[in-house]
Amino acid sequence: MRSTARNLPLQERGPARARLAHMARPIGLAVPPVLLLGALILGDKLGVALVVAALPLTVATAVGRPILTRDGRRDSLTGLGDRASLTVALDRMLHGAGGRRAVAAMVIEIDDFKQIEQRHDRAAVEQVLRLMGERLQDGLRGEDALSRLDGPCFGIALASDRRLDLEAAIQLGQRLQQAACEPIAIGEVQVFVTVSVGFALALRLQQPGGAELLQAATLALIEAQRGGTATIRSYSEAMQHRVSIRNSLCDEIAAALDRGDLTAHFQPQVSVCDGRITGVEALARWHHPDRGLIPPAEFLPVIEQAGLMGRLGEIMVQDGLNALRLWDAAGLNVPQVAVNFSQSELADPKLIDRLAWELDRFDLSPDRLVIEVLETVVAHRIEDVVVRNLSGLAGLGCRLDLDDFGTGHAAITSIRRFSIQRIKIDRSFVSRIDIDGEQQKMVSAILTMADRLGIETLAEGVETKGEREVLAKLGCGHVQGFGIARPMPRPETEAWIRSFEAQPRRAV
Ligand code: C2E
Ligand code: CA
Ligand code: CA
Repeated sequence: MRSTARNLPLQERGPARARLAHMARPIGLAVPPVLLLGALILGDKLGVALVVAALPLTVATAVGRPILTRDGRRDSLTGLGDRASLTVALDRMLHGAGGRRAVAAMVIEIDDFKQIEQRHDRAAVEQVLRLMGERLQDGLRGEDALSRLDGPCFGIALASDRRLDLEAAIQLGQRLQQAACEPIAIGEVQVFVTVSVGFALALRLQQPGGAELLQAATLALIEAQRGGTATIRSYSEAMQHRVSIRNSLCDEIAAALDRGDLTAHFQPQVSVCDGRITGVEALARWHHPDRGLIPPAEFLPVIEQAGLMGRLGEIMVQDGLNALRLWDAAGLNVPQVAVNFSQSELADPKLIDRLAWELDRFDLSPDRLVIEVLETVVAHRIEDVVVRNLSGLAGLGCRLDLDDFGTGHAAITSIRRFSIQRIKIDRSFVSRIDIDGEQQKMVSAILTMADRLGIETLAEGVETKGEREVLAKLGCGHVQGFGIARPMPRPETEAWIRSFEAQPRRAV
């Protein structure tokens, strides 16, 4: 089936998503009108006013936005072609002598570009973009075409006279990634960048035009970005299928949240030294009427895209506090429930009032609620609503756990600054710790640091008795993982707690 710009998955997330929306238009100046139209369709007066107000600003300033001054089909900043010229180049290659046998489109985007924009001035950002263009150009052949699509996103038309199969395209993508991630010296400072890559081989699409091929590569880039930074993905029909499923989930999510189809499951956390239950983590599950139990990895992006993370957060806090109340009433000793908070929820200025109200409603003291914050959220944070909310939550008396510790480059200062009470050592450090000396060294260093800072520790993803024993020997405070218990619905959790408490108490 031939895809068109109209049936594109506009609700796809990630920095590249917005680019899909205006791929059919030759230049990025189409963005404000598209936004304006969207706001009008949605009947959102405020949106219209904001778009109108932002229009001159958009045109005047943004480096990370579509190019504004053009010399024919050139990007004034990098001197490269633009989206329209790339589409034309792809069309030409597809209709050229080699046909579509070995034509491919590749889309490359600088990861976390917003952070680069926040940390450096405009001249530095422009230098990064110019250099990126040069590095990519150096990695290509004369017959390939390189364009800057918009902001930190570059597109490449790979010509048909090379042997271009999946493996060759991946190798090329990796070479370009390597070239791109060489540190960039700007004055005294070094800027480190990584890029993600999506590509589409023309053979994987039925009768593609240049625009469709570029669109497929953009979809692959979005999938790459979903997998983290510095990732490469190739377009496939299966990918298109996954996107369609996500799109249909997107249509259903609001009603599912209202119907109560999303609930918290609970995974116990246990003290290493005395084997007591020290808390539970609330993990979201979608009980779908047709598809069964859907895990967060599948629906969180959909909820985020729909702007409904706040609603999920409310449900999780309510389910969590409700469980504590019921367990208290049943005489079970579960000191606290931990709830995961996304960056967008933490940026809600009403968050503290909302949580204070919920705690009051359930008549529970704030120290019964643990806020889990991802390490990536606190790393390199400048003063903003998130920072104010985190200190406000600590002030309220809630506890803060730093989630996925070891994966997000948080500085020790941010652990202090945000009044983190406990770090959750990521599963990647814990797994096979009983047989891997390097893992032991790493965890031991983390535990020493935590000890010196006077903060508690929890090891995540503990699966085996061997791992548990080594963690106990190294002095880790708490453990959580399939080896203790899987996340369970509330009634099952209650049954599990009763049977766990009935066993003779022993250190883990
Ligand atoms: P997380 O916060 O790091 O949660 C731990 C994840 O590891 C959970 O996956 C849990 O089921 C899984 N896990 C626990 N023990 C083990 C183990 O021994 N081995 C292995 N292989 N896995 C283990 P889950 O429930 O699929 O959640 C995935 C992620 O989704 C969570 O990672 C969290 O970041 C996010 N998430 C889940 N619920 C919510 C929510 O309500 N709100 C937000 N914002 N994020 C949520
Ligand atoms: Ca967590
Ligand atoms: Ca975690």
